[in-house]
Amino acid sequence: MELFTRRHVLLGVSWVLGVLAGAGGALAGVRDVLAQTPPATAGPVDPKLIEDLVAANRILADQGVVDGYGHVSVRHEKSPDRYLMSRSIAPELVTAADIMEYDLDSVPVDARGRTSYLERFIHGEIYRVRPDVRAIVHNHSPSVIPFGVTGVPLRPLYHMSAFLSAGVPVFDIRQASGGMTDMLVRTAALGQALASTLGTRPVALMRGHGAVVVGASLPLVVFRSVYTEVNARLQSQAMALGGQVTYLDPEEARLAEASVSGTAPRPWELWKKKALAR
Ligand code: MN
Repeated sequence: MELFTRRHVLLGVSWVLGVLAGAGGALAGVRDVLAQTPPATAGPVDPKLIEDLVAANRILADQGVVDGYGHVSVRHEKSPDRYLMSRSIAPELVTAADIMEYDLDSVPVDARGRTSYLERFIHGEIYRVRPDVRAIVHNHSPSVIPFGVTGVPLRPLYHMSAFLSAGVPVFDIRQASGGMTDMLVRTAALGQALASTLGTRPVALMRGHGAVVVGASLPLVVFRSVYTEVNARLQSQAMALGGQVTYLDPEEARLAEASVSGTAPRPWELWKKKALAR
């Protein structure tokens, strides 16, 4: 019943009122007010979490995973049905004042005139079905794009990207929507379809668009985003050499991930220090 949020209740109430209003007309104004009622805040968060979210935005820009586009979010530490993400600006410019709180319908708690990313539904719909996920990156990471459009699977070819061993599915928005779109995940239904393609894995590609990367923390999701981009670049280079490429065996990947994922705080410390020094 956790999914039956306050907003759903409000939407339900407004629907009932809408039916009544359809009969009488007098309650239409009340229905409109209720439909626009923003979700409640889950309360203040540790400034350290905000600082890490700001750092994650700038690190991803520094590392070439995002440019003027792309976004990163983190789940609210006090409530699993809230998440935090910047207003709609370039990741490199994000400061603490830009961070907004959303419910899992991706409705902002306190917009105050700030605009939201069109594709915020990617975040809300993945948090809804993946309780293990505490941070999400959506990017147009350039080296992954060819793997989303050729049918050539993205596979781990070195230890740093062992987490790709579970397989990297490709989300095709044309199949999900049943027709032509502007390629953006701009509705909850498309977000749900993307979450379904991702399944239990850490990374999914989006055909002709980019990727989504998830993890149990901001340092881990940033680590995975960076090394997904690097692996894609290296895999294209290795395939271009023309010989047979030896990928990590699933058992090598399992052992490597157990060793390497615990070291994610090391590059994070370096990247964060550089990102916040500017
Ligand atoms: Mn996008």
